[in-house]
Amino acid sequence: MEREIDLQEISDGKLYTANDMVKIGCNDCKGCSECCRVVGDTIILDPYDLWQLESGLQTDFETLMQGKIELQVVDGTILPNLKIREGGAGCSFLSAEGRCTIHGYRPGFCRMFPMGRIYEDGGFKYFLQVHECDYPNKTKVKLKKWMGIPELARYEKFVLDWHDFLKEVQAVLKKTENQEIVKNLNLYILNQFFVTAYEADDFYGQFYGRMEKAEEMLRMYR
Ligand code: SF4
Ligand code: SF4
Repeated sequence: MEREIDLQEISDGKLYTANDMVKIGCNDCKGCSECCRVVGDTIILDPYDLWQLESGLQTDFETLMQGKIELQVVDGTILPNLKIREGGAGCSFLSAEGRCTIHGYRPGFCRMFPMGRIYEDGGFKYFLQVHECDYPNKTKVKLKKWMGIPELARYEKFVLDWHDFLKEVQAVLKKTENQEIVKNLNLYILNQFFVTAYEADDFYGQFYGRMEKAEEMLRMYR
């Protein structure tokens, strides 16, 4: 989700790469689950997140839609997000003891928290959201280690490609007043990247295969 933000207000004013050390270490969140309780519907999922959930939980999109995820419109595009529990008591994957039940395959936003991403100059950097985690006496941690994502260079390329693709889709949706096109394009993206199950291996191969077809389809609407 792209938002106008004042970096000076919400960050320490620095931009980071995954190889940088950042003061975010919080002793494995011992005794705290605050951010997972107040998260609301802000964890928007990308295809990698969906693949992780499907593989880790041995499940599929339809099953996840029964209580764990839901759909919302983000800048004109229909995308899935983590659902909050009935009664509003935090993320649907948060246990009663306040632990994440999908820690090994949690979404990218959760992995980098309290870092955010800023996209500029054809790439992206990370920034520290200084008001998001009150844990005292944080320690310095290498961001790469903090996120714990295998093949990070490939992952970061995917993040950028997915971001750029959504921007292209949003540009097409903004341009048209034809509601049939809006509906068809949204349904296509939802099916192509989320509803259609992923094989357990080689996420990137599957993603870029689907992306090639989606780009072809998008060209028709430009
Ligand atoms: S607010 Fe900070 S310490 Fe608490 S759960 Fe979130 S990241 Fe961990
Ligand atoms: S998936 Fe896990 S880390 Fe992310 S908000 Fe839910 S409980 Fe917290």
